[in-house]
Amino acid sequence: MRRRSHPRRLTRRSAATLVIAVTLVAGVLAISGCGISEDQERSLGASDAAQIDTTLPLIHDSVITQYVAALGSSMAKLTSRGDLDWRFAVVNSSEVNAFALPGGFIYVNRGAIEQADREDELAGIIGHEIGHVVRRHSVQQLQKREKGEVALVMLCTLTRACRTVGGQVAIDVGANALAAHYSQHDEAEADSEGVMNTRRAGIDPEGLPSFFEKLLEMQKQQPTAVGAFFSTHPTDASRVAATRRQIASLPPTPGATLRRDSASFHTIQERVRALPAPPRPSQASSGQPR
Ligand SMILES: [Zn+2]
Repeated sequence: MRRRSHPRRLTRRSAATLVIAVTLVAGVLAISGCGISEDQERSLGASDAAQIDTTLPLIHDSVITQYVAALGSSMAKLTSRGDLDWRFAVVNSSEVNAFALPGGFIYVNRGAIEQADREDELAGIIGHEIGHVVRRHSVQQLQKREKGEVALVMLCTLTRACRTVGGQVAIDVGANALAAHYSQHDEAEADSEGVMNTRRAGIDPEGLPSFFEKLLEMQKQQPTAVGAFFSTHPTDASRVAATRRQIASLPPTPGATLRRDSASFHTIQERVRALPAPPRPSQASSGQPR
C-alpha cells in the first residue's frame, strides 16, 4: 500500500459526517448477523459511496461521466446481477486505478482513461471491477469480520479518510485495512468475469490482459502511478497468461465482430487529457481499489 505523507485533513464537519456514516453502516450490519443480504449490501455500498463522493475529487463533466457510465452499464446490465442499480463515477486522479463498492458502485480513475490505448482496455478494467461486485468479493470479506470493525474497514480501505480523523483509532483501523485486500483467487475470478463481461457486451476481451500488461510495465517505470492498484489487486505475468488462455479457449462468436476501439473513446480521452491537472496528492485522497 502506498502511503501519502500528507493525507488530506478532514474538516471537523466531514469528520463528524464520517462518524455518522460509520454509525449508520454499523447499524445496518448489526441487523444482519453473519450474512449480508442484497439490500444490506446495497445500503453498505450507498453509505460508502456517499462518503467517497464527498472525500475524493470526482470529475463532473457530463460528457465524460456519461460515456463511462454507458460503457460500464453495457457490460453490467448483462451480468447475473444486471438488476442492481449500477453507478459509475470518474475520480480526478492520475493514478491508474479503479475500484468497486458492494452493491454496484464503480469508480474509475482519470488515469485509467488517460493511459488506455484503446476502448477495450478501459472496458477490461471496468469489466474486472464489475466482476468483483458480481462475485460479491468484498461482501464475503466483510462477512468474515467482526461486525464492529466492518464499517470502519470499508471506509478506511477505500478512502483512507479515517486515517486523517486522528488518534489511535485511525492507526488501528489502517492496520485492519491492510488485511482487506482481494486474494489472488478473487482476482482470478474477477479476471474471468471481466473476460465474459466484455465479450457478452460485444467488446474484445483481449483489452483486459493487454491493460494489465501495460500496468506491469508501468510498475517498473513509474511505480507510483500504479501503486494503489497493485496494493490490493495482486497482479503478475501469470495472471495475464491465464486470462489469455481463457480467451483462447472460448468458442468463436460467428457473425459477431468484437469491438476493440471506438472514436468516442478517443474523443473522451482527449477531453480528459485537456482538463486542468488533478488536485495534488497532498490535497486529495486517492481511493484504493476494491
Ligand atoms: Zn481486482
